[in-house]
Amino acid sequence: MRILVVGGGGREHALLWKLKQSPRVTALFCAPGNAGIASIAECVSIPSDDVKGLVRFALDNAIDLTVVGPELPLTLGLVDRLGDVGLRAFGPTAAAAQLEGSKVFAKELLRQLRIPTAFFGAFDDPDDAVRYVQEVGAPIVVKADGLASGKGVFICPRVEDALEAIEQVMRSRLFGDAGGRIVVEEFLEGEELSFMAITDGTTVVPLAPAQDHKRAFDGDHGPNTGGMGAYSPPPLATRALEKHVMRDIMEPVVRGLAAQGIRYTGVLYAGLMVSEGRAKVLEFNVRFGDPEAQVLLLRLRTDLVELFERVCTGRLAGTVLDWDPRAAACIVLAAEGYPGTVVKGQEITGLDGVADWKDGVVFHAGTRYDGAVRTDGGRVLGVTALGSTIAEAVREAYAAAERIHWPGMHYRRDIGHRALARGKDAHGNA
Ligand code: AMP
Repeated sequence: MRILVVGGGGREHALLWKLKQSPRVTALFCAPGNAGIASIAECVSIPSDDVKGLVRFALDNAIDLTVVGPELPLTLGLVDRLGDVGLRAFGPTAAAAQLEGSKVFAKELLRQLRIPTAFFGAFDDPDDAVRYVQEVGAPIVVKADGLASGKGVFICPRVEDALEAIEQVMRSRLFGDAGGRIVVEEFLEGEELSFMAITDGTTVVPLAPAQDHKRAFDGDHGPNTGGMGAYSPPPLATRALEKHVMRDIMEPVVRGLAAQGIRYTGVLYAGLMVSEGRAKVLEFNVRFGDPEAQVLLLRLRTDLVELFERVCTGRLAGTVLDWDPRAAACIVLAAEGYPGTVVKGQEITGLDGVADWKDGVVFHAGTRYDGAVRTDGGRVLGVTALGSTIAEAVREAYAAAERIHWPGMHYRRDIGHRALARGKDAHGNA
C-alpha cells in the first residue's frame, strides 16, 4: 500500500514511524515532512494547505491512502476533494472538521446535545459581547471562533481583560476572519485531560488517554504553546472517567453529528477540564494532538494501516486496540524565542548519540537538512521514551534530551509533574 502523510511535525513523524512498521506498506510519502521524516519516507515539497497540489500528487502517484495530520487541510476540505476523485483518506470531511474550525459550531452542538461544557454566549457583534461580559463578570474566557494556531483563547481574570480581548479579536482582527465571531464562556477550574477516540462514524473506540503541558515554562507558567510535553497514561484518567467521557461526550457527539447528516471519521480529540471525576469539554480537535500523538503511537501495538483502513471502510466495530502496558513521556525541545518569533537555522548536535535508542525515539518537528540537521521551527524535536512507570519514562526521556544541543534550545524540566505528584500512574504503579 502506498501512503501519503500530510504535515511536517512531530505528530507526522510519529505517524510515519508507526506506519512503517506495517508489513502492508510498500511506499511512504510525506508532504512536506522534515529532516527526521526524510529518513523513513520520501518528502515532497507541497505545503499541507495546498489542497489542489496534494490531490494532484495523490492521483499522479497512485496513493492508496492519505493520512491528514494537521487541522487546516481538513477544514479546507482535503478529504472531500480526495473523495471526489475516488481516493481514500483518513480524517474528517470539511463539514465534520467544523468541530475544530468553528468554536461557535462546536459549542452550539454541545448545547443542543446537552453535553457538559462551560456556559457560554456566541457573538458576531462586539457591542453585544461587551454587554454580556459586563453582565456576567470575570473571570471569563474569550475565544476567537476560527483557527488561530492555538493562540485565539484569552483567559481573562478581570472584566477589563475581557474587554481588551474583544477589542483585539473582533475590532483589530488580530486573527483576521477567525475573529469575526467569538465565544465568551465561563472559566472552568480543574485538571485538563486530552481524550482521543477513533471513529468510523458509527463505532467509537477510545485511544489511551494522555496529558499534555500547554504553557511554555516550568510550573505551568508563561504563554500557551502548541504543547511542551506529554505523557500517557495519566493517573487522572481512571476507568470510571473513561467510561463517563465515552458515554456522555464522545459517543453522543458522533451520533449527534450523524443525526445532522455529518458522518465523522478519523480521530476525535476532546480537550477536557476534569473536576471531581466529571469532565466538561473545553474544545474539540479533529486530528491527533501533538505531542500527545508521539506518546500514544509509541505505546500502540495495533497495526496502524489496518486500523486506518477499518475507519475508512466503516469496519471499526469489534476493534480492540493493543497497547504497550508501559508508560510513555515526550519532552519537546524548542527553539530560542518559542512560542514567539523563533531563531531558525541552528545546527543540532548530539542526534547520533540517540539514533539507536532502545527505549525511545526522537521525533522531529521543525527541522531541515542541508548537510547538517538544523532548526527550522518553534518546536524542534519530541524526545519520547517508554518506561515501566511515568517517572521512569520521564527520566529516560530527559537523559536522552540532555545529549542533544543547539544554541538557544530550551525545554521544560517538569514534564509529568502532575502525575508524579500523585505518585502513581493509571496502572497503580509508583
Ligand atoms: P482551547 O484551545 O479552547 O482548548 O483553549 C486553550 C487552553 O485555554 C485550554 O487548554 C485551557 O488551558 C484554557 N481554557 C480554555 N477554555 C477554558 C475555560 N472555559 N476555562 C478555563 N480554561 C480554559
